[in-house]
Amino acid sequence: MFAAILSATIKWQEKVGMYSLIAENLIYPLADLALGTSVMKYFCQLQKTQWWPVERLKEMQDVKLAELISHCHKNVPYYRDLFTRLGLTPADIQKQEDLRKLPIISKQTIRENFKKLTAHRPDRYKPIPNSTGGSTGEPLQFYIDKDVVSINWAGMFRGWEWAGYKPGDKRITFGGSSLIPEEKASVFYVVRNMLERNLSLSAVSLTKEKLDHYVKNISSKKPRYIYGYPSSIYMLADHCRCYGINMTFNAVFSTAEVLLPNIRQVIETEFKCRVFDQYGSYDGGAQALECEKHSGFHITVEKCIIEIVDECGNYVAPGQSGRIIVTDLHNYAMPFIRYETGDIGKLSNEPCSCGRGLPLLKAIEGRTADFIKFPNGVTLTGPAITLMFKDCNIEQYQLVQTGHNILLINVVKGERYSKEDEERFLHILKHHAGSDISVTVNYCDSIPPGSNNKFKFIINRDNSGARVNEQTR
Ligand SMILES: [Zn+2]
Repeated sequence: MFAAILSATIKWQEKVGMYSLIAENLIYPLADLALGTSVMKYFCQLQKTQWWPVERLKEMQDVKLAELISHCHKNVPYYRDLFTRLGLTPADIQKQEDLRKLPIISKQTIRENFKKLTAHRPDRYKPIPNSTGGSTGEPLQFYIDKDVVSINWAGMFRGWEWAGYKPGDKRITFGGSSLIPEEKASVFYVVRNMLERNLSLSAVSLTKEKLDHYVKNISSKKPRYIYGYPSSIYMLADHCRCYGINMTFNAVFSTAEVLLPNIRQVIETEFKCRVFDQYGSYDGGAQALECEKHSGFHITVEKCIIEIVDECGNYVAPGQSGRIIVTDLHNYAMPFIRYETGDIGKLSNEPCSCGRGLPLLKAIEGRTADFIKFPNGVTLTGPAITLMFKDCNIEQYQLVQTGHNILLINVVKGERYSKEDEERFLHILKHHAGSDISVTVNYCDSIPPGSNNKFKFIINRDNSGARVNEQTR
């Protein structure tokens, strides 16, 4: 009943062309009030600070960093011990340049020091338990403040606005929804999608039938934007191309994988719009989005500090590739200072011709766009596979397709690993891949990296005639 009234009200507002205005000025602020978030407050702030000169933005980052360091020293046992060991006080780390005095932390560091990295009385920061499957095949569980969620969304809305999007505009999210077979969408999730006018489509396992169904759904709902994994959006675009379906959007927002040039080109040609790529490391707090000039990713410096270092941890010059290290300036419940994202990128010291002061992150490497295709027509994309493993107590995993219908999963168990973890990921995997797929789990102590010393969590060794879909860069 409530949903029907809500739906009728939204339709009426759509008819009079007022929805986006009402969404931005009434619905989203009310949602913030109800949920205890601050998305619209940050969105307004970020719309202004994007035009600040780079020096002023750096000053803002330094103030936030000094506050975070003081908090870590006072309330986070891991950092208090670390500072004592290194003979440092908060006064020694006041600016970004001082960060080099602290070591880089890895997923391993976090797993081993989970309790010590959690702040004293974390409830003060409204922590939200979180997890990631990781593009390096290493799942991680952690906490983020509710405030981090707010500024993340605000940063994303600001970036989407560069493509013409306004909060409340109709969009598709083509990602990892409906991952767990029996999990029904909550009322909150349904209402939220309705108010945001977001059509959530699962990109976990795609087949021709599923894509046909999505095309029908999209044609009737008429969303103007798509947000999701480039490999999945590419499959939708390719499906439209193969079957002569005409579908256009105002813009496509791609995330979670490296956007390969050929993938971008097919999507842009087929959907007759530009692709706005974005980079985010949800665990570490990094965020950077392409603007309308498409000359790199503007870093959301109001929420994070990004450093690029070489193998030995030394800073590299702008324009040179190195490891992306991130410090989330807003996560107080479980702060990660100098977190190794596992991604490779380079900074630019050139200002963007759009006039925004936000510095640019140039090419991103390291997030591969691998996928596995089975003869039953199912395709599993890389980011979707990472979601299947994100809540498992596993140190590292790797999927190897050794034949048409044969999958081998290498697993390095985590400390709290139990039979339930195996049951969980096998259940999800078989649901999406199909019951005719043979899956074997191989437990090992470590998984060696492949060629170029680069670890890949999806490998296709199927030489028996099935299409090989590995894409790397
Ligand atoms: Zn720009």
